[in-house]
Amino acid sequence: MSEAREYCGLFGIFGHPEAVHKTFYGLYSLQHRGQESAGICSTAGKTLLAHRSMGLVGEIFTREVLESLRNPVAIGHVRYSTTGSSTIQNAQPLLFNYAAGPLAIAHNGNLVNSGQLRRDFEERGSIFQTSTDSETIMHLLAQPGGRGEKEHMIWALRQLRGAFSLLLLTPRKMIAVRDRHGFRPLCIGVLDGAPVAASETCALDIVGAKFLRDVKPGEVVEWTAEGEQSYFFPEKPETPAHCIFEHVYFSRPDSLVFGESVHKVRMNLGRRLAEESPVSADLVIPIPDSGNDAALGFSQASGIPLEYGFVRNHYVGRTFIQPTQGARVSGVGLKLNIIPEVVKDRRLVVIDDSIIRGTTSRSRVRLLRQAGAKEIHMRISCPPIVHPCYYGIDFPTTEELVASRMTVEEIRRHLEIDSLAYLSLEGLLGAVTNPKDHYCTACYNGQYRVPLAEQFSKLLHEAKC
Ligand code: SF4
Repeated sequence: MSEAREYCGLFGIFGHPEAVHKTFYGLYSLQHRGQESAGICSTAGKTLLAHRSMGLVGEIFTREVLESLRNPVAIGHVRYSTTGSSTIQNAQPLLFNYAAGPLAIAHNGNLVNSGQLRRDFEERGSIFQTSTDSETIMHLLAQPGGRGEKEHMIWALRQLRGAFSLLLLTPRKMIAVRDRHGFRPLCIGVLDGAPVAASETCALDIVGAKFLRDVKPGEVVEWTAEGEQSYFFPEKPETPAHCIFEHVYFSRPDSLVFGESVHKVRMNLGRRLAEESPVSADLVIPIPDSGNDAALGFSQASGIPLEYGFVRNHYVGRTFIQPTQGARVSGVGLKLNIIPEVVKDRRLVVIDDSIIRGTTSRSRVRLLRQAGAKEIHMRISCPPIVHPCYYGIDFPTTEELVASRMTVEEIRRHLEIDSLAYLSLEGLLGAVTNPKDHYCTACYNGQYRVPLAEQFSKLLHEAKC
């Protein structure tokens, strides 16, 4: 993989003397979810301090910056732009002052009705400072309500459609929210008695926090000095629609996501792939890193030895995360190199997690041919992606998705490989343990759980900025 793009990661901690430093490490471990910008917002109970910048977590948060933010409560965000352009203006946490005081928001996901909500606000005179859908949530929360705090939160969240895992911060409170379908992950842990919230459990691990549970779909969890309060905002419970692509590709293999080990799910994907589409070959070769676990499963199920034919340059960001086509193209060659001694004169099964545009896969196949591979059989650990995602994954448009334009056989010829097979949708859903209807699979079968309110564009709000 992979030419799809990633979106965001969240981390927060309430009431710990090292909260800001823990947030820094938490964000560091979530950078696979976004590498364009990062931010931390902290409080000691009176006001909010924030630092946001373009770039990587390790570059942005120097010792001095972390010291300047030092407070016992903090939330943080790493971002890739799924709506709005890649600018400092859109970096999160977004920080606003309104009648009730300062409020910061960190958002992972995409709203499908933010265009309409924003137009409604603008017609009533509201001024937006960013081009992200996340700001719409702030405007809803800032509306005068005449309700209690909790009732106002429920009123605001009920108007949002689509995918949102949120961390909110006021001087008194840290709040975690998950949309009614639970598209994106968000979990809760504890460190030295302090509650921690994070997109993935790998961020809990790195700070030494103990995993407690996921924030449930539709749940709001609030932490104050008085303790924890939890309630649900939807009118009625909804069937979950967890993004299955988190398991296929996005989440880290050392995370628990939607209640199960990403590593184990990927191993299952590889095993099922070997059962569905066996092939006679000398070696199984993963495309690192996202193909590693599925390749291990494929190797174990097929009895074909696993070898590492590609070496990844860890100092190049995930290719697809680069925001422009130019950056992507130059990243492909930089990112992976071949070990010719491994692949020369061998029949290879190459395991990848997906094929998006096809350009990256084609380049890699050429590298393998140049290195002397005798046969190349590609096995993909999920079905063909033929529909765009409106819930926070920045796949290209339908026309750009190679599987929406070509049959599997046409893609095989386009890639110039000896055979190509994808895992079936049944195989994909058979690799996870939650009920099958608890997952979103819209990019594979077009069955969108939350209908799109209007034509979606990453830069939906851009023309107005
Ligand atoms: Fe995930 Fe695909 Fe659903 Fe988007 S459409 S949320 S990528 S499963």
